[in-house]
Amino acid sequence: MEFSPAGMHCQNRCVYCWRPVEFYESMAIEAPRAADPEEMMRGLMAERRRLLMGHYGDEAADASLIDEAQLPSHYAISLSGEPTMYPHLPALIRHLKSLEATKSVFLVTNGQEPAMIRRLRDEGALPTQLYLSANAADRESFMRINRPRYADSWERWNETLGLLDGIGTRTVIRVTLIRGHNADPSGHAAFAGMLESSGAHFVEAKSYMHVGRSTERLERESMLEMDEVREFARGVAGRGPFEYMDESEASRIVVMRNSRRPIERMIAAYA
Ligand code: SF4
Repeated sequence: MEFSPAGMHCQNRCVYCWRPVEFYESMAIEAPRAADPEEMMRGLMAERRRLLMGHYGDEAADASLIDEAQLPSHYAISLSGEPTMYPHLPALIRHLKSLEATKSVFLVTNGQEPAMIRRLRDEGALPTQLYLSANAADRESFMRINRPRYADSWERWNETLGLLDGIGTRTVIRVTLIRGHNADPSGHAAFAGMLESSGAHFVEAKSYMHVGRSTERLERESMLEMDEVREFARGVAGRGPFEYMDESEASRIVVMRNSRRPIERMIAAYA
């Protein structure tokens, strides 16, 4: 189940975002107005049941698998808005981990709320895998690509970056590459330095995709070809501890692992 507790709330207005950032307004989700985590999940589960229900009428379907699918085993807290703005995020993650079928909980953040990342760490609520979006290795391109609203957004993001090493869960840095913004080979060395300093377990480098609202801000040519994504991975891998691990051409993505922090590639079960 991929879902977001933040909906239309985000502190950035990223140029590549496929969502309607032009309509994002708030910079905070007030606690009294934020849904209770368990109530939110009850609503999401009810919608999930509604989506799956029709398959029971399909004679070719295995009813036991439809039963099994009622309760997700993997959650990705992402999709829309910035989930670390949700004030009850620690309770939400603890709740998801407590469900009997749960094997993993992923969280994706833009790094603008380092205080919430510290809360997750200190309140026993770390996700199974924590993703940090990192689209720039210098302040100028960070501001141009992410178009953040916080005056100290670069400092906030760097604070989150500094929390990854040793935080006590699997960590991934996700780099979205956009032609004309951050994909020129002249920037590989700076990216390699930033990624090495993060101490993350994995790096996912992928091309921007020309979909949704982003089509009004970028061109189709802003997407990279797969070979250009591989070139970025080689540029990073040749300068630090990250080494090529796998790729998906359909998604124009390469994943690298940190040779200094070896960890199991597969998540067998929630730990
Ligand atoms: S941080 Fe994510 S949700 Fe927010 S504007 Fe950027 S891509 Fe969109």
